[in-house]
Amino acid sequence: MYRRQLLKLLGVSAVGTPLSICVTSPVLATTANWGYIGKASPEHWGDLAPEFQLCQLGRQQTPINLQIAGVKTAQSNSEDLLVINYQPTPLHLINNGKTIQVNYQPGSYIKYGNDTFELIQFHFHHLSEHRINGKSYDMELHFVHRHKTGNLAVLGVFLQAGAFNPKLQLIWDAMPQQPGRENRVKDIYIDACHFLPAQRRFLTYSGSLTTPPCSENVLWCVMAMPITASPEQIAKFSQIFPTNARPIQPLNHRLVTEVLE
Ligand SMILES: [Zn+2]
Repeated sequence: MYRRQLLKLLGVSAVGTPLSICVTSPVLATTANWGYIGKASPEHWGDLAPEFQLCQLGRQQTPINLQIAGVKTAQSNSEDLLVINYQPTPLHLINNGKTIQVNYQPGSYIKYGNDTFELIQFHFHHLSEHRINGKSYDMELHFVHRHKTGNLAVLGVFLQAGAFNPKLQLIWDAMPQQPGRENRVKDIYIDACHFLPAQRRFLTYSGSLTTPPCSENVLWCVMAMPITASPEQIAKFSQIFPTNARPIQPLNHRLVTEVLE
């Protein structure tokens, strides 16, 4: 049971045309040398390669600051807007030089309205890319899904310093330290649903990839409540990736909808 609340009605943007590119791994999707510091940093991405021009010129870019209204005036709505159906998968990790990515075997998906998007991978950012009411979190997890049309949907979950996260530790213990290395651990299964907050309140809008080529028409759902990782767990990731978060982008004329559980 969900109720929807419109936070900002500044214009309408549809999640529409299919993407033509495959972006299961940011570093494999492109050849230009992009990164997070110096001349390869996010403010230069649009100049690094012609296929990156949306990073500079796009009007529906991610991440954004998500503003949650203080006063709830939600109207009742009985439809299940977002259904999450994740299954366990054998642990398959890649250090692609930009993040740690966990590849997912087929069979896990989300349904958003009538559209089904299959989970293909998830990965981590430090610090968080999105903000809520101006606040950053220590990390952000992105579950990347693909529709049969090629459209992408990404589910974001914040991590904040707190209790030790035993499920996260399964990934951390197998995390390849060197770029380009991968690790398949066939006898360890992980389940993406263990990385979701108990409360499913989320914010949804139309955005982009947060890495080059910054393709748009990406459906974003960002969970409002964080999960935890211990300070030591956050430190372990940040030692490999001191910063891999794109700065906040302009909202422009976009609609952000808060969906209450
Ligand atoms: Zn990401």
